Amino acid sequence: MTAQILDGRQIASEIQSEIKQRIEQFVRRQNRQPVLAAVLVGNNPASQVYVRNKESACAKVGIGSRLHSMPDSSTTGDLLEKLSELNSDAGVNGILVQLPLPDGVDSQAVLDSIDPLKDVDAFHPYNVGLISQGRPRFLPCTPHGIMRLLHRYGVPAVGRHVVIVGRSDIVGKPLALMLAGRNCPYGPQMANATVTICHSHTTDLHSLTRSADILVAAIGKPKFISGDMIAPGAVIVDVGINRTSEGLVGDVDYHAALQIASFVTPVPGGVGPLTVAMLLENTLVAATIQARSATELYQSS
Ligand code: NAP
Repeated sequence: MTAQILDGRQIASEIQSEIKQRIEQFVRRQNRQPVLAAVLVGNNPASQVYVRNKESACAKVGIGSRLHSMPDSSTTGDLLEKLSELNSDAGVNGILVQLPLPDGVDSQAVLDSIDPLKDVDAFHPYNVGLISQGRPRFLPCTPHGIMRLLHRYGVPAVGRHVVIVGRSDIVGKPLALMLAGRNCPYGPQMANATVTICHSHTTDLHSLTRSADILVAAIGKPKFISGDMIAPGAVIVDVGINRTSEGLVGDVDYHAALQIASFVTPVPGGVGPLTVAMLLENTLVAATIQARSATELYQSS
């Protein structure tokens, strides 16, 4: 079997064209463009690349971006002050804090201080709570991108066994909540899965991954999922991004997966581009919600 490649670049590019049109409509109605503020602390080269990519994606669809670079020596207090300023700036619709933050900074306190209406990464406990109750405001970018990719390729989740290796707050956990829900923005076919979450204490990981109809790897270890961990015909979603001497590689042995699976995401060019596209969509959603709230406030006064 040779798996079909789930081409994240292609799908992200189609989605970005659609977002661009929706932003043009927004600008016609509101007479201003949505704006995303990014907070970048320190000189981590990978973080700098991620933020640059996000800025250039914003520019392509007509979202204004503002970069707030802060020194490595910034304290939790400095960041809370910056976020308070951005929260109260009506010209900023979405706020993202590029992770990881330097050692010594209380990342949780920083993320918790973002206005939930501007929380385009959907990391705030209020937004996570809404997701867990099946009534999301923003969907977290990477899990949302995965659902979107599967949806575009006509891969349903309903009734299938999804095994997610990795339980982080930004990928594994929210993806599990979304796929195990009764419904989602793409309909019940893209939800209603039976989900197993695996982590570093899981016993007999091989048996679990081999029982997956859809296997999601979000581990952060290059080629961790070997061919013998994949069931014939499974759908493989590789979230991992690992910098190695061979270049960027995922958490899955891609060449093995190609021979065994029915669908597989490449790295790079799989989930990553969708993550950026979903950030753009969330910024547009944030701007739309805020414009609506402002109109409602005006009308009720
Ligand atoms: P993370 O917070 O480091 O979590 C890694 C998860 O893998 C943890 O739950 C950990 O278990 C589990 N794990 C580690 N070793 C394991 C083992 N031997 N067996 C089973 N599970 C194991 O990672 P993350 O932030 O979710 O990121 C995961 C990967 O995805 C990274 O490569 C990251 O760069 C990439 N990523 C890509 C995108 C994208 O847009 N493509 C977005 C986000 C992240 P414990 O909980 O027990 O420690």
